[in-house]
Amino acid sequence: MQFAELGLAQPILRALVSEAYETATPIQAQAIPPAMARRDILGCAQTGTGKTAAFALPILHRLAAAPGSASGAKPRALVLCPTRELANQIAQSFATYGKHLALRCAVIFGGVNQNPQAQAIRRGLDILVATPGRLLDLMNQGLVDLTKIEVLVLDEADRMLDMGFIHDIRRIVAKLRTERQTMLFSATMPTEVRRLAEMFLKNPAVVQVAHVAATADAIAQSVYFVPRRSKAALLAHLYDHLSMARTIVFTRTKHGADRVVRHLHSRGIRSEAIHGNKSQNARQRALENFRSNKTPVLVATDIASRGIDVDGITHVVNYDLTDEPETYVHRIGRTARAGASGVALSFCDPEELPNLKAIERLIRKPIAVCKDLPTFEAEPVHQQPARHANQHQPHRPMRHPHGGEQRSNERHAPASAARHPLQAFRGKSGKGSGNSFEQKRRWNGPKHAQRGARPQMGRR
Ligand code: AMP
Repeated sequence: MQFAELGLAQPILRALVSEAYETATPIQAQAIPPAMARRDILGCAQTGTGKTAAFALPILHRLAAAPGSASGAKPRALVLCPTRELANQIAQSFATYGKHLALRCAVIFGGVNQNPQAQAIRRGLDILVATPGRLLDLMNQGLVDLTKIEVLVLDEADRMLDMGFIHDIRRIVAKLRTERQTMLFSATMPTEVRRLAEMFLKNPAVVQVAHVAATADAIAQSVYFVPRRSKAALLAHLYDHLSMARTIVFTRTKHGADRVVRHLHSRGIRSEAIHGNKSQNARQRALENFRSNKTPVLVATDIASRGIDVDGITHVVNYDLTDEPETYVHRIGRTARAGASGVALSFCDPEELPNLKAIERLIRKPIAVCKDLPTFEAEPVHQQPARHANQHQPHRPMRHPHGGEQRSNERHAPASAARHPLQAFRGKSGKGSGNSFEQKRRWNGPKHAQRGARPQMGRR
């Protein structure tokens, strides 16, 4: 369906044209008509499907059609979402799609000084995008008045519940008028989300994009069986051998993310971490560097990564295999956005095998096993790979993904023993030093970590 057929206001259509959007994505084609008819919406869609525009466009259309109250001071649309990154992203989308409209949007989230946010609210606004905690804080201080809210959106409802926002959401919604339009979007529909929908939605239009397995079809997914302690070395090895121009690496923990960044730096690979321990400014900077290609590798925890909307991500690396299969789908959805293709690589330690099985159950297909494993057998058990790499290559310069001749030569050079990035691990310790190779063979049956093996995909 073309946007021009949807009956959206002309200024919105002009903005879409300048974004080169012509065809509505499936979730947009399904959600926009009932949303424009002011129906409540229950949407099952994950990030990357175009769900932001699915609610933002009808909201802009509605607010533009009936210009605001005389004071213009009170928001008429409220979008609640789980993280600051997502909040910024949504506000940015409103700004982009509404650039020819005289509507104001403000975004508020925790972790930063509240004063600029309070000032933005005082100046007057039409659309408020907020994370629940900070919004409730400001409400409790009497700084936000939500009595004029006509449209409420709960975005990524499953994640908001996961993050424990349910009580804040209830308190916020209790302050809204009951005759309003409510749209709830969630990547998954567990019972808690359905309950929330029953509580807040009236006779909603239910819209749903294809099962996640179908969405994931554009993504080449593969798994490497690799012991935890060799994952950092494998990542650096892959970076050296694949064209990982813009890669996002997911780790389970914040410290894990920092460790990966340290290791990559020690191997001369630019990367930055983004997680809850980083200041808002540091997170924004890291995202900007990633977007502008200054940093080819972004290492993120799941929560911090919500709302990262960067086009052109070539590779997603599941450095730790999450025990929530839905999270895997969220993660890999960072690549192959808006019709592009992408690659998702998962690193699976023996302990994570049940997680892999659960993921395969959810996506309803096995993930191909990649046998392109470098040799880790000589890696000492208790030492950090980075230290070995440093011993051998003490002053390796930083490299840019699209940088100089040396980089591209390296990428195309045969992985000879002399230049192999894991050269540092070989011969450093004797056999029987906690050899991961032996461990892998016991665990996975077939020998798939042969020295010098070239990339080869296969099914178990
Ligand atoms: P979302 O799922 O809302 O995070 O959107 C995913 C990405 O798709 C964003 O980068 C949007 O800019 C882009 N996008 C959304 N709708 C369309 C569309 N109809 N045509 C092309 N790109 C789109």
